[in-house]
Amino acid sequence: MMEGVGVEYVGTCGSCGGRTRCHGGQSLVGDVLHWSIERSCPACGGAEAVCGRDDVPDDLRRRLLAARPPARIRLTAPDPDRVRGMKALRSLLNLDLVSTGAVFEQVRAGDYTGTRPEATLLARVLTRSGVPAEVR
Ligand SMILES: [Zn+2]
Repeated sequence: MMEGVGVEYVGTCGSCGGRTRCHGGQSLVGDVLHWSIERSCPACGGAEAVCGRDDVPDDLRRRLLAARPPARIRLTAPDPDRVRGMKALRSLLNLDLVSTGAVFEQVRAGDYTGTRPEATLLARVLTRSGVPAEVR
């Protein structure tokens, strides 16, 4: 199953300074997050496309989060296993122990938000490691 989000916005052309039409997107393919940005300039005909995986550029992430309500992760078990949950979060997010603990508390409190593909991956990894989670 593939989860994807996208946003349209206006940028500035690097060649002629005109206004470009931009499309940015993020999707979850398997267990990998992909992102892409396509720009085209009606004034000079210039076009470019960049893409990557895992960490989405900050600017694009902000636009995606602003375009629609962020997705929220909810733990569905009444007494989630903190050790397993932290292990799963740590392997996915590459955080130190202190930050991982903070993220786990956010998740448990229902305050952790992200783009839908990000939240879907996080919930999936948590569930797989024995800490049932869902995205709302
Ligand atoms: Zn141009």
